[in-house]
Amino acid sequence: MKVLAAVSPNKITFQEREMPAAGEGQIVIKVEAVGVCQTDLDVLEGKRREKDWQPPRVLGHEISGVVYETGKGVKNVKTGQSIVVNPVMSCGECFYCKKGILGCVNGRLIGGSTDGGMQEYLCIPAENAVPVPDSISKEAAAIIEPFACVLTAFRKVTISPGDTVVIAGPGIGGLCFTQLSKNCGAKVILIGTRDERLELGKKLGADVTVNIRKENALDIVLNETNGFGADVFFEASGNGSVIDEAMDMTRGSGSIVAYGIPFGLIDFDLQKLILKDQALISGAGPWQTFDEAVKLLEEGKVVLNDFVTHVHKMDEIEEVIKMVKERQPKLMKAVLKW
Ligand SMILES: [Zn+2]
Ligand SMILES: [Zn+2]
Repeated sequence: MKVLAAVSPNKITFQEREMPAAGEGQIVIKVEAVGVCQTDLDVLEGKRREKDWQPPRVLGHEISGVVYETGKGVKNVKTGQSIVVNPVMSCGECFYCKKGILGCVNGRLIGGSTDGGMQEYLCIPAENAVPVPDSISKEAAAIIEPFACVLTAFRKVTISPGDTVVIAGPGIGGLCFTQLSKNCGAKVILIGTRDERLELGKKLGADVTVNIRKENALDIVLNETNGFGADVFFEASGNGSVIDEAMDMTRGSGSIVAYGIPFGLIDFDLQKLILKDQALISGAGPWQTFDEAVKLLEEGKVVLNDFVTHVHKMDEIEEVIKMVKERQPKLMKAVLKW
């Protein structure tokens, strides 16, 4: 079978490898679609701090496929079934696993610390396969993983009907927060810099959009909330300096959720946070949220189809990497297929 392997930093090449075989409790899937994300580039470039997140590595942790072979004792999926891969492999035994929280001390990530989806067939523990109905496209199924990450952060706050939610960053994360907040009956104010993305946000339910290149976000948020500020603020832009502004746009005793991952250290006014009695919360990882993510998609409460802007063949990987690196404006998510 064909494998697209990151063999050394910045070098990615095709290899011919033997077909995997499903051992006990494992399955082999035929890979249908793989989403390409910044994490893949970080591993490819050897930028990750973790020792085992380095090339040589087969990239890809956003994976959909069809079950090709099941090993002994596998009961949760059948051959021919469509699935999405939960890339987080946890031991089930350690302190964190027993508590049911993120942080397994023996945890591995498929496509990070172990080989991922950029191969024709992939062997995984059966428990990491989550069935998806055929009504969800293979491309959309491949990006359930980022949506499952959003759900982890979203679950940390409670949003009630009539609440106002401000979301910074109309990328996949921000636009998932938009849909989830609307489902709770909130008024959503979406902040960004690109009109096209903000338009898509409107289509997905945002009530008010603010392009900070042309408008003052703080004025608009205060105006929309009788001067109080939002009940909940989701930072999904990855620009850490937004956190300080978020404190002004959020009401006293409101919550700020940091989701977008910034680079470097962030300055913010901790005194302001404390005196306003605000909660600053973070959330990461698709931890135990895949089932809920699939259910929300199946019910049509969240749609991901609009986010897959580019579908490419595996052999166009170089082109896709270039686009992701250059943050090509029209690119939201590129998905690779064989
Ligand atoms: Zn990812
Ligand atoms: Zn564990």
